[in-house]
Amino acid sequence: MPDKNRNCYNNYMEPNYPNEGMRQLLDGYRHFFKGNSPRKGFCALHAEQIAHTQNPHSMVISCFDSRVCPEAIFATNDGHICVHRNMLNQVDTRDVSMMASLQFAVESLRVQNIVVLGHSNCNAVAKLKMLDKLPAAISAWLGGGKYRGDSYEQAIKNNVLDQLARLREIAFVQQALAQGKLNLEGMVFHIDTGRLERFDARQNGWNFVETEE
Ligand SMILES: [Zn+2]
Repeated sequence: MPDKNRNCYNNYMEPNYPNEGMRQLLDGYRHFFKGNSPRKGFCALHAEQIAHTQNPHSMVISCFDSRVCPEAIFATNDGHICVHRNMLNQVDTRDVSMMASLQFAVESLRVQNIVVLGHSNCNAVAKLKMLDKLPAAISAWLGGGKYRGDSYEQAIKNNVLDQLARLREIAFVQQALAQGKLNLEGMVFHIDTGRLERFDARQNGWNFVETEE
């Protein structure tokens, strides 16, 4: 099993890859985009290696939408990423399921990355404009989010940034960030083209992930 701490956040000089886990995610994405996913099905050798422990390098917080499948998009194998899904890919500190998964991922599994993964054509973002017309449970959940921006695409991206901001307010996330053990990422998957956009905090902008390298 590769040592996930081999290239820790502070020692990794390449800004596109703050750690080995992010390199694996983005390399996996390129396999996915080219239709060349290494994951073919059950592999007895891999299953034997992971049967008694898990060592995921990243946690992905994704929308509930059936068209967005993080394990496929990043071409991961079993044991590589933890995925938490809900409508609007929200980080809601009132949600005990969300918080339990998050705390376990950060403190016990010591994931290197948390990726908030939004997507194009997100119905949950669109519905933020009509909360009063929705069934009570859906309205209550989506009510934790905000439609921010002049366009639908901007609102989708700003929702991802809002969730990253919420992550940064959580004490155990702050601690892992301060220790240089955790990296936060915002990404948006385009359903129609298969392209992936990634937020660059240094430039305060979004860039498409290169599909060739
Ligand atoms: Zn969605």
